[in-house]
Amino acid sequence: MHDNLFVLNRHPSVANQFLSELRDTALQTDRMRFRRNMERLGEILAYEISRRLPFESKTVTTPLGKSSIDLLTSHPLLISILRAGLPFHQGFLNIFDRADSGFIGAYRKEGDATISIHIDYTSLPPVQGRQVILIDPMLATGRSVLDAQKLLLSKGTPAHLYIVSVVAAPEGLSLLKENLTLPYSLWTCAVDEKLNSSFYIVPGLGDAGDLSYGIRE
Ligand code: URA
Repeated sequence: MHDNLFVLNRHPSVANQFLSELRDTALQTDRMRFRRNMERLGEILAYEISRRLPFESKTVTTPLGKSSIDLLTSHPLLISILRAGLPFHQGFLNIFDRADSGFIGAYRKEGDATISIHIDYTSLPPVQGRQVILIDPMLATGRSVLDAQKLLLSKGTPAHLYIVSVVAAPEGLSLLKENLTLPYSLWTCAVDEKLNSSFYIVPGLGDAGDLSYGIRE
């Protein structure tokens, strides 16, 4: 469907354990484990994305000589959609430890058979010409990513958007394919079956924000 889509669980690894613990009703209520598994998957996707970023050759001086090595030209800009994105964001920051971070506060308003995304907080570093990792752990309708792209474009034009999620729904992937205008690639741990009538991902894992931080009013 997407030629620029990377799906982690299509390459079975220990990451599948972290994903299954996020989904499992017997384990996901352990909040510390839930957040840590989000973080661990962020670390793994950060590593996978790092292989596609620009590198340059450098020389490092050791106590015994010189060693040449390809290093990242710069660390990407990490932008997370709050609040569910926070533990996943930390995983990316553990790997891209010199990265700038930006945040977008978005919440869903669910109506009968409709959903709207409201953005009520933004804190964004300069985006012009940068490699941007946009972090939204549950890519459901895809609307929050489109709203985030609009916001970014009002500030500048990133060189590339790496859109990352833990679980993505086919509906959201299709919406992004039709509407994203920036150069982008999609990185997820799993593509699930569908959205339900409340726009939750099925089988998904439930509400990632509530599982990380508790229910909100
Ligand atoms: N946000 C969530 O936390 N879960 C979903 O399934 C969809 C959006």
